Amino acid sequence: MHICKICQESPNSHSFDILKEDDKEIVFYSCLANATKPHDHEGIIIHYAGLLANKKDKKWSWVIDGKNGNPKMLSLEIALSLMKLCQTHIDSLVKIVLINTTISIKGILNLTYPLLSKKMKKLIHYE
Ligand SMILES: [Zn+2]
Repeated sequence: MHICKICQESPNSHSFDILKEDDKEIVFYSCLANATKPHDHEGIIIHYAGLLANKKDKKWSWVIDGKNGNPKMLSLEIALSLMKLCQTHIDSLVKIVLINTTISIKGILNLTYPLLSKKMKKLIHYE
């Protein structure tokens, strides 16, 4: 099932995949270093929004892996757009888990932090 045309033509353009799924919940996985088009702002939002719309009533979690990542792979603008998108699905959001985060990636995320809703802040965890 391909929702994103860009990834259909060139897989891994954006990294937002289903890690596991059962009747109740979908766990999404993103690895910054895996995305070959990390600055395709519009495409990333279309990709993520498509998958989130497609999950329908299921709950969801999101694992964001900073492994081998560097701050060039994450722009503040895109991070903010993604947080806005998450906010629109917050009622079904279980948690966002950041793993293997480097200090520089944390720095960008920390810039978005004051703009997040209280509920969103509670749902973000570092591991
Ligand atoms: Zn895509």
